[in-house]
Amino acid sequence: MKVRLSPDEEAVVRSARRFARERLRPNLRAMDEADRFDTEAFAEAAELGFTGLMIPETYGGIGTNVRLALVVLEELGTGSPAFALSLGAHFLLFGHNLVCEGSDELKRRYLPSVAAGRRIGALALTEPAHGSDAAGIETTARRSSDVGYMLTGTKTFITNAPVADLFFVYARTAPGRHGLSAFVVERGFPGVRTGAPMKKMGNRSSPTGEVAFDSCPVPAGNLVGRENEGLAALMRGLDIERILLPSIYVGAMRWSIEIAHLYATHREQFGQLLKEFQIIQAKLAEMTVRYEVARVYLWAVAAEWQVAPGARELRGSAAAAKVVVGRAAEYVTREAIQILGGSGYLRDANVEMLYRDARLASIGAGTEEIDLLLIYRGLSEGDFL
Ligand SMILES: Cc1cc2nc3c(=O)[nH]c(=O)nc-3n(C[C@H](O)[C@H](O)[C@H](O)COP(=O)(O)OP(=O)(O)OC[C@H]3O[C@@H](n4cnc5c(N)ncnc54)[C@H](O)[C@@H]3O)c2cc1C
Repeated sequence: MKVRLSPDEEAVVRSARRFARERLRPNLRAMDEADRFDTEAFAEAAELGFTGLMIPETYGGIGTNVRLALVVLEELGTGSPAFALSLGAHFLLFGHNLVCEGSDELKRRYLPSVAAGRRIGALALTEPAHGSDAAGIETTARRSSDVGYMLTGTKTFITNAPVADLFFVYARTAPGRHGLSAFVVERGFPGVRTGAPMKKMGNRSSPTGEVAFDSCPVPAGNLVGRENEGLAALMRGLDIERILLPSIYVGAMRWSIEIAHLYATHREQFGQLLKEFQIIQAKLAEMTVRYEVARVYLWAVAAEWQVAPGARELRGSAAAAKVVVGRAAEYVTREAIQILGGSGYLRDANVEMLYRDARLASIGAGTEEIDLLLIYRGLSEGDFL
């Protein structure tokens, strides 16, 4: 099935598909082996407009169409899930969060360079002692009469931190769950320090790391939204992240099915092609069913979000879509390895990498366990029935 898009949007999707196949795939293995972010590919993605997804044209972006961003991320996920993850952290977790929550002045100051890919963005929420319990974060932003705020604390697991120029940071401005505020922090502000890229299981060419703020002065004008109203923004940001970023792993599923199907059409055993064994046909059919169900559910939730952005009653559905994609992606990438047998276990086949990459779908943007809590909450509040 295909998402219905306008001819202009179709052209963007075609260029994403070409970019994924011709630009990302050939380099992917080398980038994964070296844990290296492809800065040249990022610059080329900017030329194609992908760094300006979900950013209005007035700020240099290509608009805030959720379905288009979803399909572009899916296409890029068929070329390099890790690259798509870094791009998503840039345009969505930094760019779109600022679009939704920032003042005109902040948008004018930061969004054009983000949309053009001249500055890389990141979202800094998670801390060493606060992952799932995000509202408990301890990084503090204390009011200071000369500079605005003094920011102190450490964030961890931040996608793009080692290469980012701009951070969308959540910090505590008052005690309690509702004492959170958001800030835009530039890498060049005094007291900002980032760590080396973390060695990860998958998505290795998407750099992840720590960012620490050591009495970092942040101008009052860099407060995003109103003081102590950050929790609602944080939750809205996580909702759209749960809808959009899983589409990367829909792309990973599609590529895994392609690889497995191709292999089954020329590998012979017992004098027959693998694709002639009914058990292999059943595996490919089951993989296709799970892929299709996951992507169509994601589209449906995205379409609802497009109509009612930020609607509180979509929270459970966003979490449910993410659970469905995470489980499907783990299954499909596992079965792809299985169909390739020993060759699937080798690095050259790419399916082992897709399996490692897909594992993040159940951990990032809140773990599957937290998704289940949100789904239950939605159920008990009547959002599903
Ligand atoms: C590659 C990668 C990229 C990331 N990118 C970013 C980023 O860009 N920005 C950012 O801010 N963060 C980012 N994260 C952080 C990510 O969102 C957190 O890792 C995630 O929310 C889980 O937090 P934690 O790792 O501290 O696990 P914990 O919260 O310590 O959880 C450990 C386990 O306990 C379970 N658990 C926790 N609480 C409950 C509960 N109430 N009920 C049942 N089970 C529970 C969890 O589900 C999990 O199984 C990234 C993480 C990774 C791995």
